[in-house]
Amino acid sequence: MFARRITHLKAYKTETSPARVKLSSNELPYDLPDWLKERVKKAVAEIPFNRYPDPYASRLREILAEIWEVSPENIVLGNGSDELILNLTIAVGEPYEGVAYPIPTFPMYRVCADTVGRPVYEIPLQRDLDIDEEKTSEVLENYRPALLWVSYPNNPTGNLFSREKLERLRKRVPLMVSDEAYYDFSGETFKDQALKGENVVVLRTLSKIGLASLRVGALIGEESLVRELFKVKLPFNVTYPSQVIAEVVLTEGREFIEWAVSQVISERERLLGELQRLENVEVFPSRANFFLFRTPFGADLVHKKLLEKGVLVRNVSYLPNLEGCLRVNVGKPEENDIFLETLSEVLRELE
Ligand SMILES: *Cc1c(COP(=O)(O)O)cnc(C)c1O
Repeated sequence: MFARRITHLKAYKTETSPARVKLSSNELPYDLPDWLKERVKKAVAEIPFNRYPDPYASRLREILAEIWEVSPENIVLGNGSDELILNLTIAVGEPYEGVAYPIPTFPMYRVCADTVGRPVYEIPLQRDLDIDEEKTSEVLENYRPALLWVSYPNNPTGNLFSREKLERLRKRVPLMVSDEAYYDFSGETFKDQALKGENVVVLRTLSKIGLASLRVGALIGEESLVRELFKVKLPFNVTYPSQVIAEVVLTEGREFIEWAVSQVISERERLLGELQRLENVEVFPSRANFFLFRTPFGADLVHKKLLEKGVLVRNVSYLPNLEGCLRVNVGKPEENDIFLETLSEVLRELE
């Protein structure tokens, strides 16, 4: 009954083990403050629950346009940026044309191509975790994929690929997608090129800045491109509650979000320093809200021992180039202290 391309697949799994300190999903460590939740409650109570939401999410797009200094016509929203990844996979190029991306990277590029049945071209990163320009050029030249996905910064490695390389590569592919899920922590963007329609669109999300529960993602692109995507997206993809809550948080809660993001950035720098001081830990530089680190002990074992002591991180050691590696996101200062202490303890036990 189901297509073979579907029956071959495995459903997406995420780490759900309960833990005292959860640092495995790159979420913002801070929940909304009580006063802001009260504002949210009031706004939600005023929703006409029997009505469909605005398919254009006009008010929310206006607010985001102001924050990002673009026009609302440059924005289309998704049920998380995951949905926009699916919409782009459906809409850009012909089905027999493939999609390309460096690996390891965000798994959704592959998941969406697989479900739609499009070829994928995976290009291993260099040892230094930068994009391999030569191999990528070869793939673009030889296989003519319709799309090049770039997680910028890259999940799970945390680094920004060389901008000069990306500037050259994007000219060799019909469309490059700069997935800027961690933009608030990196400050680097291809927005200006996207607005000019230079073979690039930008993805953003509210998931990493405190609203992962809402499922709101955005694509920023040239107007005519955005209009095409409005034909593809399901009309009521962003729920009424999500629109209303995001509107309240992004207006009245703006200062809170900015404070939380700056906390995470300064804790990222502190954590980097502390991890560099630990013996038997190789930590990779990050422009996101998480770190990749390697220990000489089995990653499965380190992961398990951390979890036994109440700290949940992400095991990414099965990915190419990442033998022995774990990914940990920046938490609240006290959570980061617990993580550092627990990791030192585990490493001492394994020595
Ligand atoms: C977390 C993440 C996303 C977020 O997706 P949402 O569906 O908006 O939650 C997108 N891309 C990358 C690279 C991510 O790490």
